[in-house]
Amino acid sequence: MLENIRIVLVNTSHTGNIGSAARAMKTMGLSSLYLVDPVSPPDGKSSALAAGAGDVLADATIVSSLEEAVADCGLVVGTSARSRTLPWPMLEPRECGEKLVVEASKYPVALVFGRENNGLSNEELQQCHFHVCIPANPEYSSLNLAAAVQTLCYEIRVNYLDQQASQQAPSEIPEYPLSEDLERFYVHLEKTLSQTNFIVKNHPGMVMTKLRRLFNRARPESQELNILRGILASIDKVALKGNAGDKSQINERVNQEMSGTKE
Ligand code: SAH
Repeated sequence: MLENIRIVLVNTSHTGNIGSAARAMKTMGLSSLYLVDPVSPPDGKSSALAAGAGDVLADATIVSSLEEAVADCGLVVGTSARSRTLPWPMLEPRECGEKLVVEASKYPVALVFGRENNGLSNEELQQCHFHVCIPANPEYSSLNLAAAVQTLCYEIRVNYLDQQASQQAPSEIPEYPLSEDLERFYVHLEKTLSQTNFIVKNHPGMVMTKLRRLFNRARPESQELNILRGILASIDKVALKGNAGDKSQINERVNQEMSGTKE
C-alpha cells in the first residue's frame, strides 16, 4: 500500500533538499519519489543528505511535467503554505494522511510539493483534487521543503499504523477516474465550450478554473465522467452541424463515450 503513495517534488532548486526529502520519506516507510523538472539532477549533496535513503534517491523518477508525474494517479493532493486567490477543497494533514493511505489500496496516489522560492503555480495547484496546508505559525508558515515532506509523511505513517492495528477492511472506494482521464475531460470540456462560444477565445476568464474546482469538489466517479463525456460529444455533434443533427448518430457516439471509449 505504501509503495502506491508517491511523493512529487516540483522544480526543486536545492539538490540537498531532494536528498533530505528522500530521507524523510524512507523513515516513514515511503519509497516512490518523482522529481518534476528539477533545477539540477540529484548530486553528491543529495546523496550526503539522503544518508541511508540512497536507494530512494537512486530509484527516483525524473519527468518533465506535473501532468506526467500524476497521470496514472487516482488522487492528487497539492501542498501549500498559504491560501491562494481561489479557495480549493482543503484537507487537514491528518485527513490527508488517511485519504492517501485508504485510496492507495486501490491505485497510485500523489502528494505534490512546490518550489523552495514560490511553491506550486496556480495551474499546478489546479491539477490537484485537494490542497493540504500544515497549520504552522501564521506569522511564519513556510516550512523548509524537506521538513514539509517529513511532517506530511509522518501523518501518512500514523494513519498507516492505525489501519494496520485496527485490521478493519478498508471501506469501499468508488471507481474514480485517473488524473489523465480527468485532464482529457477538461480538454474536451474546454473545446466544446469554445465551440458553443460559451468560452470566448480571447477572453476565457476564470471559467475553466472554476469548472475544475467544481468537478474536483464533486469528484465524479469513472462512470459519471463517461456520462459527462457523452454529453459533451452530443453537444459537439449539434454544434458542428449547426442543428439537431441525425439522432441515431448522436446516440451511437453517446453510447461509445459512455462505454468508456476515449477520444
Ligand atoms: N514561499 C513559498 C513556500 C515554499 S516552501 C510559498 O509561498 O508558496 C516549499 C514547499 O514546501 C511548498 O511548496 C510546499 O510544498 C511545502 N510547504 C512549506 N510550508 C508548508 C505548509 N505550511 N503547509 C504545506 N506545505 C508546505
